[in-house]
Amino acid sequence: MEEKTTPAAESDTARHFLRQWIEEDLAAGRNDGTVVTRFPPEPNGWIHIGHAKAICVDFGMAALFNGRCHLRMDDTNPSKESEEFVEELKRDISWLGFSWDGFYYACDMFDTMWAIAEELIRRGQAYVCDLSQEAWKSYRGVPTRPGTPSPYRERSVEENLDLFRRMRAGEFAEGEHCLRAKIDMASPNIHFRDPVIYRIVHLPHYRTGTAWHCYPMYDFAHPIEDALEGVTHSMCTLEFEVHRPLYDWVIDRLAEQGRLVVRNGRTIRPQQREFARLNLSYTVMSKRLLRQLVEEGRVDGWDDPRMPTVAGMRRRGYTPEAIREFCERIGVSKYESQTDLALLEWCVRDDLNRRAIRRMAVLDPICLVIDNLPEGEELTAEVANNPEDPTAGTRTLRCTRELWIGRDDFMEVPAKKFFRVTVGNEVRLRGACLFTCTHLVKDAEGNVTEIHGTYDPESKGGNPADGRKVKGTIHWVSAKYAVPAEVRLYDRLFTAENPMAFAEGGSFLDSLNPDSLRVTQAYVEPALAEAKPGEHYQFERVGYFTPDSRLSQPGKPVFNRTVSLKDSFKGGR
Ligand code: ATP
Ligand code: MG
Repeated sequence: MEEKTTPAAESDTARHFLRQWIEEDLAAGRNDGTVVTRFPPEPNGWIHIGHAKAICVDFGMAALFNGRCHLRMDDTNPSKESEEFVEELKRDISWLGFSWDGFYYACDMFDTMWAIAEELIRRGQAYVCDLSQEAWKSYRGVPTRPGTPSPYRERSVEENLDLFRRMRAGEFAEGEHCLRAKIDMASPNIHFRDPVIYRIVHLPHYRTGTAWHCYPMYDFAHPIEDALEGVTHSMCTLEFEVHRPLYDWVIDRLAEQGRLVVRNGRTIRPQQREFARLNLSYTVMSKRLLRQLVEEGRVDGWDDPRMPTVAGMRRRGYTPEAIREFCERIGVSKYESQTDLALLEWCVRDDLNRRAIRRMAVLDPICLVIDNLPEGEELTAEVANNPEDPTAGTRTLRCTRELWIGRDDFMEVPAKKFFRVTVGNEVRLRGACLFTCTHLVKDAEGNVTEIHGTYDPESKGGNPADGRKVKGTIHWVSAKYAVPAEVRLYDRLFTAENPMAFAEGGSFLDSLNPDSLRVTQAYVEPALAEAKPGEHYQFERVGYFTPDSRLSQPGKPVFNRTVSLKDSFKGGR
């Protein structure tokens, strides 16, 4: 059943451009010869598979060069941040298999950022502006023509400092003033046209409370955070490429102010590079949209197994190894593209094939009666726990007179090349014996309710004494010993390959898949009654499953289908 072909990795990830960049830096003797990277999530939601890519890049590059990777909460915008998200972030990143070499909150640097901003004012490099947001945007203009300077550009240092301090104290309404860096209103790079670096926000911050009424903008805060932590290589997604000159401008100002970290006698000057973000088919990845799915109850929380969040994937039964392998295979480049969800599933399947314990489970059951096996008598079946892993051992199953088999393993009127259960055909009941169907029992409407037949007593273990060939092997569970279980079958969350493009004027919810969750009852072999979340099983011939971490209980298991057995990955063959 398992695939033998492997999709080719899309790029030579071993030596991508970020690695070359760092190698060149080290060769040129920049900084102090150490590599310090960081992963800087905003704690305003749960991280998703796109973040996992960034995590693999940030932690991966640090590890490659024996460097360090910091985990930093980029918490400079109070509106949706919370400690709960911080805790979940730590849990998810640890689960992915990474450990950070320093944990930081950007908000701990608010005082320093403030001092840096005041110093910019003193040096004539920043001013308080009273233009409304609409007005400053129109003053800023378009890249092809110089912008118009703000009428507040030439305020005195004293007036600027006074207004700036009063902004902090909460004397003004949001939008009434902002602090802008004084750079170049004629620059072809729009981000150089006196960008806003502080704005008034009256919301309480989850850590600093109401101490601040004014918060730094990302473009100002991020380079400062990197610099104060002594980060050498700051990697982010492509949309920040046009912000890079501004990043460098801020670093230059920090150098002027003598604020760059000195390590091993060398000044550390952080640099930024950008790579393409991960886009995955049949899902959305912006935290804003994921939040909407959660808040509107479209899914069962951030860790719903259909969500592309790390926690959702964990609950669904994806493994950290599979996710890391996926990130390795998609590689790092500067070209935006959409990755096929099937590649991620391929990686999951490939990993689970190696590690998952095999068990028998019947999802859509129909009763099979072995007429010549008397009630109370049993056959035993010795079956391997994982044919891919001999150390996983074997287990003994008890085959009784009445069994459950999958309805799709039976056909009353067999199709061509159907080698499974049909009247007159002999099949192997996996590990137990050979069985020939002799007749069917139907209800009043003519539906088949029982399959009857006889087994060959000379075929114990499923191997005939005379060596005759039997094509079909089916799985089964004993009706006497099987345990009922709820099984949750997941499909992609959206029917459109790109839900955002599909929406076009509508909502991304337009292509939400109404059948993304199907709940069904199954019979599973007794060993599964005590299955625990975090364990991985292959239900033979059905798919990979894991107990649901929220719903499953000892003796009353609930299983999530992690991924089906069938591979739909088309690329790389
Ligand atoms: P979202 O738009 O989903 O809210 P974000 O960029 O606002 O994402 P952050 O918490 O700021 O979320 O992201 C932390 C880091 O993860 C950033 O460096 C960002 O560039 C990176 N990142 C976010 N989404 C992706 C993605 N789809 N692919 C690769 N990296 C990503
Ligand atoms: Mg962000």
